[in-house]
Parts: sequence; structure tokens; C-alpha cells
Amino acid sequence: MSGLEDLYREIILDHYRSPRNKGTLEAPPAHRTEGFNPLCGDEVVVYLAIDDDRRIADIKIDGQGCSISQSSASMMSAAVKGRTIEEARELTDTFKAMMSIHETDIGGDGSEADAPTEGVNAELKLGDLEALRGVVKFPVRIKCATLSWNTLNQAFDEAVQTSDT
Ligand code: ZN
Repeated sequence: MSGLEDLYREIILDHYRSPRNKGTLEAPPAHRTEGFNPLCGDEVVVYLAIDDDRRIADIKIDGQGCSISQSSASMMSAAVKGRTIEEARELTDTFKAMMSIHETDIGGDGSEADAPTEGVNAELKLGDLEALRGVVKFPVRIKCATLSWNTLNQAFDEAVQTSDT
């Protein structure tokens, strides 16, 4: 029992100490979106470069906060880089389903927000993100874990709005 929890803690600490895709992109042309979690003081800044195929060509993460918020942002960036916006939104739904959060304002369309996890594209595995599963036991920390994903979705909304006009 403790073996798995130890492994999860190791993964979270690894992402916290060596965050993936840490840094900034020049915005514009990249899109810059900030997210805050006032409950914990977490800050996540997402920089997105989206190519003509609506694919995330590059993503950088900046910000500061607790280990849960920053490691989640690191894992999120690694999980969505190279994916299309649609795939990334699907992954967001999968992650948030794991976090047992049902917010109506996520994803924009909301069409698949209530889809069961089993229906999710098998290729969209959570991987390291599974390590955050234990956060559900601490409701006050869930906002820490979902902050980067909410910020990512907000970034998509803004990026799509800009490119569609
Ligand atoms: Zn936090």
C-alpha cells in the first residue's frame, strides 16, 4: 500500500524539483495566460504556441506555488505538448474526472464533460498524472492540482478566439 504512495510522492517531487517545459515564450506570437489559486497562493502562467493544425507546437510554464500546483503544471505541459487542442481538452476532462470535479465552465463546449472515463481515447493516458490521484483525499488541495489545467483551457479559449477572427 505504501509502496504505491511512495512512488507517487517520488513522481510529484521529481516534477516539482525538475519542472518540465519551465520558462517563457515570446508573447505574442505565443499566447500567455495566467491562473491563480488564492486559496493556496499558487500562480501558473501558461505560454502556448499553436500551429496551423491546432496542435500545441510548444508550451512553457512559469509561476510559483506549492508542490502540488507546480508538479501538476509540469506534468500537464509534458502530457499535452505535441497534441491537438481537442486531445488536450479531452485529457483535461480525464484528469478532472479523476479529481472528481464537475465544473460546468470548463472546456467551453461542455459536450463531453460528463463522459465516463472509460470512454476516453485509450491513447490519452494520464501517465505520471496518476500520481496526483491521492490529492482527491485532500479537497482543499484539489484546486492546486487543477489550476494549471483550468489555465490551459482558458488559454485555448483565448487562442482560438484570436485565430478564428
Ligand atoms: Zn497549492
